[in-house]
Amino acid sequence: MPDNPYLLLTPGPLSTSKAVKAAMLRDWCTWDDEYNAVVRSLREELVALATSAPGYTSVLMQGSGTFCVESVIGTALPRDGKLLVVANGVYGQRIAAIARTLGIAYTVLDCGETGRPEPAALAQILANDARISHVAAVHCETTTGMLNPVAALGAEVKAAGRVYIVDAMSSFGGIPLDQAAMGADFLISSANKCIQGVPGFGFVVARREALEACAGQARSLSLDLYDQWRVMEEKGGKWRFTSPTHVVRAFATALEELAVEGGVAARHARYVANQRLLTAGMQELGFATLLPAAFHSPVITAFCSPTAPGYRFEDFYAALKAKGFVIYPGKVTDHDTFRIGTIGTVCPADIERLLAAVRESVNW
Ligand SMILES: *Cc1c(COP(=O)(O)O)cnc(C)c1O
Repeated sequence: MPDNPYLLLTPGPLSTSKAVKAAMLRDWCTWDDEYNAVVRSLREELVALATSAPGYTSVLMQGSGTFCVESVIGTALPRDGKLLVVANGVYGQRIAAIARTLGIAYTVLDCGETGRPEPAALAQILANDARISHVAAVHCETTTGMLNPVAALGAEVKAAGRVYIVDAMSSFGGIPLDQAAMGADFLISSANKCIQGVPGFGFVVARREALEACAGQARSLSLDLYDQWRVMEEKGGKWRFTSPTHVVRAFATALEELAVEGGVAARHARYVANQRLLTAGMQELGFATLLPAAFHSPVITAFCSPTAPGYRFEDFYAALKAKGFVIYPGKVTDHDTFRIGTIGTVCPADIERLLAAVRESVNW
């Protein structure tokens, strides 16, 4: 990493390429046709990454990923709607918190942080509660790295005739998916995760008819997803309010780099190689993973903290940072963990170097 004092092994913001950072080293006009053409092509490329089925569109939204999730929940749910949230970690619980804050009726299918949602349990809840109009689930639950069965859940949501919202924040662009096959009406992600851009905006790929049904429903002016979409459609790529121009340009470069790498399949293969090497190497050094291997995404891995009395996360973190690697604290409530991300401009050679640094830092 010649251009950075450390490699970010975190789930976003993550390590980005020099070209992505370089795209931000000038000022960009926000309203002319040159810029709007960039926005138009980004929107088309995001739809193409989500699905090849017809009838889908995309919206870009300022802010971090949570702003985008909030814009979807606050815009998609009608006044008499009710949301069922499938949760097994912080990000599922955050969707419930958004509904609570906005005064939207909701219920949670809480699977526990190490539990995997059962499609049959979801189907049962939907059969018992006709008021539930929308279901939200998280594809990769970044709290643990768990990959949730979003397509199997989606089949139940669609069979029951409800609207399906998927938080694909930490998977989109890094894990192959087909939004139409998954049954997702709204798919949400952001610039600074697997597309490998920098933070500043998120995006929603939506089934056009589902989005068109949302006019006038938003509970917020700035997070009105429908209005944001309508302006982008009618004004040829214009954002309603100041757009993060530098971040958008960097994102365009990041999308070019995704194509050069060989698309989502090739990126996924690199992340899988990173994660396999990481878990095998860490296990050799005595670290256990929180989840069984079958549940793991290649995005981030939660490791159980050592129980040795001399272990302190802060010291371990500082030792690794001094050696050029930034890891991530744990977020699981009933297990002491730390996490290591394997996405971003990170390759197996970096993971080899990390494992050597971990070996030198284990001194408790
Ligand atoms: C990163 C992430 C988010 C959004 O987090 P922000 O900090 O608002 O960008 C939402 N859901 C998941 C699963 C994530 O990994």
